[in-house]
Order: sequence, then C-alpha cells, then structure tokens
Amino acid sequence: MFNVTESFGSLVFNDAVMRQRLPKETYKALQRTIKDGRPLESEVATVVASAMKDWAIENGATHFTHWFQPMTGITAEKHDSFISPTPDGRVIMEFSGKERIRGEPDASSFPTGGLRATFEARGYTAWDATSYAFIKEGVLCVPTVFCSYGGEALDQKTALLRSMEAINKQALRVLRLFGNADVASVKTTVGPEQEYFLIDKALYDRRKDLIYTGRTLFGARPPKGQELDDHYFGAIKPRVAAFMKELNEELWKLGVLAKTEHNEVAPAQHELAPIFTTTNIAADHNQLTMEIMQKVAKRHGMVCLLHEKPFAGVNGSGKHNNWSISTDTGVNLLEPGDTPYENAQFLLFLCAVIKAVDEYQDLLRISVASAGNDHRLGANEAPPAIISMFLGTDLSEILDAIERDEKYDARQADLMRIGVHTLPRFPKDTTDRNRTSPFAFTGNKFEFRMPGSAMSISCANTVLNTSVAEELRQFADELEGASDFEGALHELIRRTIREHKRIIFNGDGYDESWVQEAEKRGLLNLRSTPDALTHLLDEKNVRLFEAHRVYSRTELEARFEVLNENYSKIIHIEALTMLDMVNKGILPAMSKYSSGLAEAALQKAALGTGPDCVYEKETVRRLSSMMTALFRQARKLEEDLLAGKSITAAPDLAAYCRDTILPDMTALRIPADEMEMIASKEAWPYPSYGELLFGVR
Ligand code: ADP
Ligand code: MG
Repeated sequence: MFNVTESFGSLVFNDAVMRQRLPKETYKALQRTIKDGRPLESEVATVVASAMKDWAIENGATHFTHWFQPMTGITAEKHDSFISPTPDGRVIMEFSGKERIRGEPDASSFPTGGLRATFEARGYTAWDATSYAFIKEGVLCVPTVFCSYGGEALDQKTALLRSMEAINKQALRVLRLFGNADVASVKTTVGPEQEYFLIDKALYDRRKDLIYTGRTLFGARPPKGQELDDHYFGAIKPRVAAFMKELNEELWKLGVLAKTEHNEVAPAQHELAPIFTTTNIAADHNQLTMEIMQKVAKRHGMVCLLHEKPFAGVNGSGKHNNWSISTDTGVNLLEPGDTPYENAQFLLFLCAVIKAVDEYQDLLRISVASAGNDHRLGANEAPPAIISMFLGTDLSEILDAIERDEKYDARQADLMRIGVHTLPRFPKDTTDRNRTSPFAFTGNKFEFRMPGSAMSISCANTVLNTSVAEELRQFADELEGASDFEGALHELIRRTIREHKRIIFNGDGYDESWVQEAEKRGLLNLRSTPDALTHLLDEKNVRLFEAHRVYSRTELEARFEVLNENYSKIIHIEALTMLDMVNKGILPAMSKYSSGLAEAALQKAALGTGPDCVYEKETVRRLSSMMTALFRQARKLEEDLLAGKSITAAPDLAAYCRDTILPDMTALRIPADEMEMIASKEAWPYPSYGELLFGVR
C-alpha cells in the first residue's frame, strides 16, 4: 500500500531533511540564502553538497545533474556520476560544493539567440537555492539557473526569479504605506492546471505526425466528437485511473502537490491541478509534472500528448495559470478583506493588475505565443487572442461606483472616510461563471487561461510579476509623496479605473461581436506568434524589463530571435512531415486502393455481374481527382519550402511561414481528409481520429 504521508516528498531534499542532516550553522546560513536571497558561501555549499550526496546515495541515486529550463523546450539535464577515482585506484562517491553551485554545460547545444556568438559557447548553471533538489530515476537533480559567462540569462528561470524580486520590492513599498510593518517579504503564488490527452501507444506509433510534431496533421472528423459533452462528467476509464494513481504517487514522492484530476471536455482529454505554491517552485513542479506524465503514460501503454492542439476540431489543451500575491505573514493580497482599510489595499493591488494587463497586453500575449498555441487562441474554444479581464458583475459594479464616486450599495456599503467602500465577500461562483475570459478574477486570484499546455509557465509569470511590479512602483511613488494619503489613494484608484476600464470585459469572449467591440476599445488582437513578437522590442517593453532588471535589451533581443526561429522550425518540421506522409503513405495507399476498385469493376464486368459498378467507378473517379489535388498541393508546398530557404532574417522567415507555409499546409490537408472519408478503413494508412480519441478504454 502506498502511504501518502510517509511518501510525500520522500525523494526531495527539503527543509525537514536539511534540518535533520545539516549542522545547525550550515542550516541557518542556507536559510538566509533561501529566505533573504543572500549569496551562498562556498564553505556552506561544500557542507550542503556533502550532506546532499550522502542523502541521495542512501536513496538510490548514482548520478547528479543540474536541472534547468532552456529558452525553449522542456527541461535540460546532463548527467554526471558521483564516482571519482582515487589515486590508489579505488572509486569514491564524490560531489563537491563547487559542482553543486556551478556546473558548465555546453551552451552551444541550446538556443541562445545570438548570445552564444556574442559571449561564450559555454554557459554556467547555478543552483537556485529556493527550489529543493530531488531524485528522479536514480539521478539527483539540482534545480539551477543557466547563464552565459557575461551573466546573460540563457534560460527561463533567471528572469522569473528576477521578476519575483521586483514585485517583492515594490509590493513592500505599497504595504508600508498601509502600515504593514510586520511583512518582511511578498511572493507571488501559482497553481497551474495542466490539461493533456492520453492515447494508445500502439496507435500513436503508427502516426508519424504525432511522433515528429506532437499533433495530427491529417485526420477526418469522427462521427462522434465532443458534441455530447459526455466525457467531462463520465467515469474515468480503468486504464486512465491506473495511470492517474501512479502519476500521483510519483509526483507526491517528488513533493509535487497534485490534487485534483478529472476528465476534460474533449474525449481522451484530462486535467491535473496541483495545490498552488511559490511561483518558481510551481514552475519547477509543472515541468516535472509534464515529464513524469509522459513517463508514466508509457508504462501504461499510452502516450501523453501535451501539444496545445493535437486534433483539429477538438478542444485544445491549455494550462490555466492561477496567480496571486501573498505576504510572508500569510495574507493573500488579492483577497478582499474585512475592514475598509484592507479593502482599500485590496483595491489598490487589484488596480495594479488591471493597469498592468491593459498596458502590457502585448507582453502577456507574447508570453503565451508559440506555433502550437496559435491553433488554440482565438479558435472558438480557448480564450481569444485578445487580452481582456473578467471581474464579475459584483466587483465591476463596485469599480463603477468608485469611478462615479457613488455608493455601491446604499444598504450595506458605507463610504468610509478613506473613500473606499466596504466590500462584500466574493463567493467563487459569482466570479467564475465566465469560462471564456483569458484573464479572470476568481475570488482571490487571477486565472490566466492563455498559456499553452506544452509551455513552461515561467515566461507568463515573469511578465505578470514584472508588469504588476511596475504599476506598484508608480503607485508607491505617487502615494509616498502625498500629503493626504487617503485622498491621494482615492484619487489614484478612481483614475486607474477610469483610464484602464477598457480592458474589463464580462461578456462572452468567444462571440464574434467581441472582436469588433475590442477593436473599438483599442485593444490589441495579435492573432499569431509573429504578430505578437513584433511588439517584444517596443521601447516601453524594453524600458519595463530594464527598469526592473529582469531582462537587458540584449537578452530581449536574444529572445526575439529564439522565439521567431523556434516558430519557423516547428512549422518546417510539420510541413516536411506532411510531405512525407503524403508521398510515402497517403498517395501510394490511395493509388493501390483505386487499382483494387478498378480491378473489381473489371472483374464484375467480365463476369457480367453488376454492369454498372457505380460504387467502384464513382469512387475511383473521386479518388483520382482528390489525388491530383493532393499531389499538386504537395508540389506547391515543396516549392514554397524551397523558396523560403533564401530568407535569412528570423522574423521574416517566421512571417513567411505564417503567410505561405501554414496556408499551404491547410490546403494540403483538405483533399487528404476527404479521401480518408471515402476510403476503406483497411486502405487508409493511419489510425483514424475515432480510434485515437476513443481507443483507450
Ligand atoms: P477550476 O477548475 O475551477 O479553475 P481548480 O480547483 O481546478 O479550479 O484549480 C484552481 C487552482 O488555483 C488550483 O491549482 C489552486 O491551488 C489554485 N489556487 C488557489 N488559490 C490560489 C492562490 N492564492 N494563488 C495561486 N493559485 C491558487
Ligand atoms: Mg481553471
């Protein structure tokens, strides 16, 4: 029997283990690093490394790795064994402090967006002491950041940690103004809900598109899709239940607080939600969750698809990023309080988020931009590509009343001297009815619904933290200089509502009329990744990141390159995979199938039976014209791919992929899917959508 309390975190070098295994002084020094961000002294590191090694070996580890998140892709690791030879020919298990705080993987194999050329091929990894080390499959994993020798971030975590410092600093200034002297630090918290598909491994193995690109590039719609909405409430299938049980156990051992799991809207789609935690840890845990999901699925004869849109016409997968800010004294700053003072503070933080989301719509959109997620955003199911905020009617009415300087509710809400109303509690169900909003207030946190299921959450949270930090900085500057705090506060809140209320939208985000309405309001509608990326280096954005020391201009330029390159690479791989499937699979199979039909018609005619042979003849004719269309369109795609080779600038190539290659791919799919619908099941070379979506029982 799996004992949850005993096993939870059993493979994590967590606080309890450190307290037990480290000398008191070392433990205290390490705590100072973790809590106050002090640099880690090398003597301390040496002692910690040795204790960590002993613990890891006792728990079955033989290797160690610096575990980090490169700019794209999931996580990277390079395994080194603990074994060191001794001069007398024996081996000892060794792991020094230096190895632990710093490692030197070769940066040249990770995307660096030009930073590699400018600086050095080698990057170094440095331990993120705020995130615990853990053992995964016999390997001690030390969570690290990854930088160039010039200190430029080559990963996603460095910026995330910097953004957490930025919001901590500015939020503390605001909290002091409200007299919160006891608060020593402020952290953002995140609970990312992870969606995914599970399909049968044997079927997956027969689809090159899934193997190479993670999504189906062809596939006719099955007669039954998600129309009946019966999957969401349906019972979890035994094979899936067994997977979920093992997944939970694996995650618990690693200290990941996996909590709820259920079926999602689409057939074969599921979700896992963890209990929220500090943002950088949540980001690590989400990476681990994705990794472990894929491994455990294989053990159960299934494949876990993390792609944002594995199946056309079926709901895609996202990662709802539940985000809030809380103090080390345990106060959630996005929770309306009980007193007018607390409420005023809540409203000010709320205003900071409203202003941040309005002013940095472009960055939020960029933070979730990828070739995969483009299929989802705005595709009538996931949130639209337009960023807006849902506050619910209660809170919106309060903001309206404040803006007009009226009482919100004459019966219960007094206008306090401070100029802010007493707020009612917001029960979750009055705030969370609208599932179409990309950024919804859900009672005591915001749910950012745009991140894609395959992405790291680091980038989205870096943008959220930094933009809110900037607004808090402006608020603190203004209020610290005010002679009448309460008057100035009231004015500031009113002004912010007035100037930024255009971002608030409580209606249906999937409705076509919203697109027009949003345009009237001047909101951005960045439909594709290249569209969004053109804003990354806008002066206001560079200024934001530089002011808070989250990204330098050089780092942003590198990211701009990497993100554009990555987009084009993905589309290229998809296009080549489609050509391969058409040339090696679909056309030969359909040619053979047509011959068989023609043969049958001839035989029947020879026998004098069924002189018309309508089915055979008609099908051969139809297939023949579809094959011609498919063949021609495949040639066109080939030519366009070739023409693209002369484009060298990353953003130009990305735009070309969006404007030429993607439409070619869409056109190529049409005749193929039509053929799949009329060909016999045996003749079609790939498992169908129906088999893939309903194949796990
Ligand atoms: P729903 O499916 O209705 O969105 P879930 O319960 O599945 O709700 O997910 C809610 C997520 O929000 C959970 O991961 C939860 O831990 C997280 N969450 C709750 N409170 C906070 C908070 N203060 N900060 C960040 N995340 C939070
Ligand atoms: Mg949710």
